[in-house]
Amino acid sequence: MTTTDNRPNSAARLYGHKWRQSREVFLAANPLCATHQELGQVVEATVVDHKVRHGGDLKLFWDRKNWQPLCATCHDVHKQRLENSGRVSGCGLDGLPLDPNHHWRR
Ligand SMILES: [Zn+2]
Repeated sequence: MTTTDNRPNSAARLYGHKWRQSREVFLAANPLCATHQELGQVVEATVVDHKVRHGGDLKLFWDRKNWQPLCATCHDVHKQRLENSGRVSGCGLDGLPLDPNHHWRR
């Protein structure tokens, strides 16, 4: 059956059984959140994140050098940064910079 396999934008299908298994193995080997670890904090990683957005690219998706263990909080921040990329230096509707690390927000 290959007839259902020619849909574009079907990246969600990548997150199937094989991914879940590889993810488990990766998290078992890399149990700590990479971002928190950089800050010297020990937080359990629960998410495997793609450093470079794979956008359905199988090579990027399965490249373990492109994987990083993150906790749920860091994953959300990372994802938002990516989605806002190019706009992080701008301002939101409230007039404050979108970048949460901007000194205006401190
Ligand atoms: Zn974290």
